[in-house]
Amino acid sequence: MTSQKHDVIVLGSGLAGLRAAIEAAHNSGLDVAIVSKVQLMRSHSVCAEGGTAAVMQPDEGDSFELHAWDTIRGGDFLCDQDVVKRFVAEAPKEILLLEHWGIPWSRRPDGRIAQRPFGGHSYDRAVFAADRTGFAEMQTLYDTLQKYPNVSRYDECYISSILIKDNTFCGVTAWDLTSGQFFFIQGKALIIATGGACRMFGFTTYSLTATGDGLAMAYRAGLPIKDLEFVQFHPTGLVPSGILITEAARGEGGYLLNNKGERFMEKYAPSKMEVAPRDIVSRSEITEIEEGRGFPGPDGLDYVQIDLRHLGAAKINERLPMIREVAIKFNFIDPIYEPIPVRPAAHYFMGGVHTDIDGATSIKGIWAAGEAACVSLHGANRLGANSTAECLVWGKITGDNAAKYASKKETIPPPPKEATLKEEEARVFNRFSPNGKESAYVLRRELQRIMDSQVGVFLTGTGLKIALDRIGELKQRLPDVKVKDCGRIYNTDLLSVLEVDNLLDLAEIIVTGALSRTESRGGHSRRDFPNRDDVNWLKHTLAYYTPKGPRLDYIPATITMWQPVERKY
Ligand SMILES: Cc1cc2nc3c(=O)[nH]c(=O)nc-3n(C[C@H](O)[C@H](O)[C@H](O)COP(=O)(O)OP(=O)(O)OC[C@H]3O[C@@H](n4cnc5c(N)ncnc54)[C@H](O)[C@@H]3O)c2cc1C
Repeated sequence: MTSQKHDVIVLGSGLAGLRAAIEAAHNSGLDVAIVSKVQLMRSHSVCAEGGTAAVMQPDEGDSFELHAWDTIRGGDFLCDQDVVKRFVAEAPKEILLLEHWGIPWSRRPDGRIAQRPFGGHSYDRAVFAADRTGFAEMQTLYDTLQKYPNVSRYDECYISSILIKDNTFCGVTAWDLTSGQFFFIQGKALIIATGGACRMFGFTTYSLTATGDGLAMAYRAGLPIKDLEFVQFHPTGLVPSGILITEAARGEGGYLLNNKGERFMEKYAPSKMEVAPRDIVSRSEITEIEEGRGFPGPDGLDYVQIDLRHLGAAKINERLPMIREVAIKFNFIDPIYEPIPVRPAAHYFMGGVHTDIDGATSIKGIWAAGEAACVSLHGANRLGANSTAECLVWGKITGDNAAKYASKKETIPPPPKEATLKEEEARVFNRFSPNGKESAYVLRRELQRIMDSQVGVFLTGTGLKIALDRIGELKQRLPDVKVKDCGRIYNTDLLSVLEVDNLLDLAEIIVTGALSRTESRGGHSRRDFPNRDDVNWLKHTLAYYTPKGPRLDYIPATITMWQPVERKY
């Protein structure tokens, strides 16, 4: 099997991956490679809309302490507080760095960088570029990347496994979708920046490519996955497509209304109203719908409304142009004149590959950053605008650390035996036949139905057990999937089976973790255990791969500044 060699391999070309690659390439002279299963600018990060949180105006009343407190309270006290402290101090530096690299941040009339309110933040803290923040950030990082001739790119190249020898990283196996070639990429250091896995849900804000491949690969390679039971539902997924109506729509002053025309958040979070944290707003919406104050929607997607009319045409056009365009093009609704139908949509995994505060995993030479990682910044519920900031901060930290490690390591670890590589090639290409009886698309849809119906905003032990049994059945049916396309070039038929395989493993981790966690905290809300239980559950879940399903272990949350108190808004 042919192989390529690089010092640092960055797996993923989203915000975390690009920021990591720039940092690793800068000053080090190392040979850095970025691998992505899509074209670089098609990573989900381009979809980020509303903003990136950072303390930019300490002279006007914001502070690191306040950002840290908001994040920790928003995360229902499961955040590691040393991690939060580092995050709030580093985020403003990243905003200014992007500014120097040419990003078109939206501005205030006095020329300073503008900031808008966001859910759970007690200060207008989200830096933004209209409602296309992620796109502007990605474009700026992509431009900057052009300065580094020591960075190579593998676009449209699917990584299928991470190889480890003697507890040390040695390389990844890659399938070039454009040529069909299967090969090995040897490296000294790896940064996993493969993003989220929300596509196991049917109603989601995520791109089709968000299938958690990196998490599943890391899990199979023996790395623990942390806190995956904490799934975030964003309160304003457009019905019926699930496309995100950014939180900035509420940040800019949008109202949430029930079928009586009431601003119902008054009952649930009187001080924060529509800009309460997402877990609270999502639960409030579902409660309104369940109690008969929603609007009937297609396929059971009953909804509430977000009303922007009072903001006026000028503000909508300046601050939320893409939201207007999406509402017009997908729903034939112009938000200047009509409210938009929305309901909670699966949006983010607080969990991911377990790392320490430096983004390092338990395997020498492997780091993880961005949404694929769980450095324990977000605890049980992420605040809006903290994720893009996290990608930048830990992109930089992991890029820097991986480069230092690779610089010190004189040789690239030798590749594994040819037989090991051939075995992985067979796992990818020979597991499925054109004679199978099952369809990967049907399995994926069934998985999505289970997750939507049993693993939603509210959970019960009974529903989770049903989900676990059904996921087990789907896993058993997977080997009999039919793959009609026998070629290797752009075989999207096969790709979708590999993705479903990954989603099933991750769904099993989520449900197993959620079933064990007999409390409610942040995004994990059990009807049969409605209270937070700090005595028994102020701890992170670690899931380890075994052939029979995940084995769970726990580690304490790091509390350095604030003891948990009741969470009220
Ligand atoms: C619609 C939407 C709006 C959002 N708005 C905001 C916002 O306003 N503010 C905020 O802070 N956060 C927001 N978020 C969340 C935030 O955008 C994401 O958490 C963040 O951008 C994730 O970046 P990432 O670099 O970790 O991963 P991604 O950008 O998802 O990139 C993942 C990369 O991994 C690659 N990859 C995955 N699997 C493989 C494989 N097997 N082989 C090779 N490559 C692979 C992909 O090709 C891709 O390049 C939003 C999310 C969505 C969906």
